[in-house]
Amino acid sequence: MNASTKQTTETLRKLDQEYIWHPFTQMRDWMQEKPLVISAGQGNWLIDSDGNRWLDAVSSLWTNVHGHCRPELDKALIEQIGRIAHSTLLGLASEPAIRLAERLIRIAPKGLKRVFFSDNGSTSVEAALKMAFQYHQQAPDGDPRRTKVMAFVNAYHGDTIGSVSLGGMDLFHALYRPLLFNATRGEAPYCYRCPHGCVNRSLENPECGLVCLEKLRRLFDQEGAHLCAVVVEPLVQGAAGMLMQPRGWLKGLRELCDEYGAFLIADEVAVGFGKTGTLFACEQEGVVPDILCLAKGLGAGYLPIAATLTTERIHNGFLGRPEECRTFFHGHTFTGNALACAVALANLDLLEQDRTLTKLAPKIAHLAERLAPLRELEHVGDIRQKGVMAGIELVADKAAKKPYPVAERIGHKVILEARKYGVILRPLGDVLVLMPPLSVTMDEIDLITHAARESIIAVTERRAAENRT
Ligand SMILES: *Cc1c(COP(=O)(O)O)cnc(C)c1O
Repeated sequence: MNASTKQTTETLRKLDQEYIWHPFTQMRDWMQEKPLVISAGQGNWLIDSDGNRWLDAVSSLWTNVHGHCRPELDKALIEQIGRIAHSTLLGLASEPAIRLAERLIRIAPKGLKRVFFSDNGSTSVEAALKMAFQYHQQAPDGDPRRTKVMAFVNAYHGDTIGSVSLGGMDLFHALYRPLLFNATRGEAPYCYRCPHGCVNRSLENPECGLVCLEKLRRLFDQEGAHLCAVVVEPLVQGAAGMLMQPRGWLKGLRELCDEYGAFLIADEVAVGFGKTGTLFACEQEGVVPDILCLAKGLGAGYLPIAATLTTERIHNGFLGRPEECRTFFHGHTFTGNALACAVALANLDLLEQDRTLTKLAPKIAHLAERLAPLRELEHVGDIRQKGVMAGIELVADKAAKKPYPVAERIGHKVILEARKYGVILRPLGDVLVLMPPLSVTMDEIDLITHAARESIIAVTERRAAENRT
């Protein structure tokens, strides 16, 4: 590091702190920190403005699939930009969007037939909601009394007002209630702190008999006739802290939706594109949703792109003469962006050519093996893992499952400590999240889990020592 790059980094930091309002960030604290300025990437690593390398252990907020600056992805973008960067899907068709839509339908759960493009996860959910609602208002076999939507406790579906209405995390969502529509709130599994008091040692073999599904049925009994849709994050509620559903729960939910005539909207924005070990999370329970929301990994972590996939039945509910006004009056300016579609296609090519998912299985097993000993740590309450998604829940008192006081920001302290090992993590409260790109190597898994372990020990022991004095 020479004097001039140092100068640049400090200048960039100052400008950042002067001009940028960072998302999900208490800016008062941000001003006290020395933010890392990322200026490049290489494989699974980020490179800062001083040339230091950092392992991207949360895949740049859950988006990256095959690493940064993959030559195949870069090439696809360069080729596309030589033709055109963007043209509209309003009134015109576009070659990369056509190819991507056809490709998505080929790999998606069977039964999904139509692709509606937008540019982020929140909008993919907004589109899904409006599709389900509007269908019942106007389709010949629709039911206009179905005006309600069920979503779950601890759900996260994005930050626009419709998706916030579905949200079930009070910290993010409660303040906005006066602006929101009322969602019917179902209880979602959180086996470590089971709301029904069940104890499950294994998510794969739940001993509880899924009491939670029976409770959920009662809610369907009351509300089912008024529901147009049920929105769920399949297998893992990500933003809530990697809360994982026991085997059979998602399938049971699909059955309840069928029985009570509600569409199932699967928000696979976080879990899609291999993060749970299969291309889509729904596959693991043999579930086909009526609407599937995709974003994050769809664009390989390169560009913002999202897709809302649905069935021919729902699509056909919007057909009619112009004066019947059955059109889906919804669209985002950059819908079907050509560059984003090109990189998404190259991402799907890589998934096949690299046999990414086949190669992922031993990495998932290795991650599980490396995480297992962390369970013994005094302040690790729970470790949850599905595929390359893992959450380590830190607690002040393990026996009582007592959380740390929010003000202590234990999770944040741990991720700062992990930087000593060159690893970038991002916590969700006191849940330490590990979610490397699918291209992560065995050695990198060792580094991530080592950094997590040592950082948890350092921070929790330091706190205990401080409390003693
Ligand atoms: C990230 C996320 C969203 C929102 O996606 P954005 O691109 O940030 O709008 C929606 N649903 C889930 C499950 C997510 O994890």
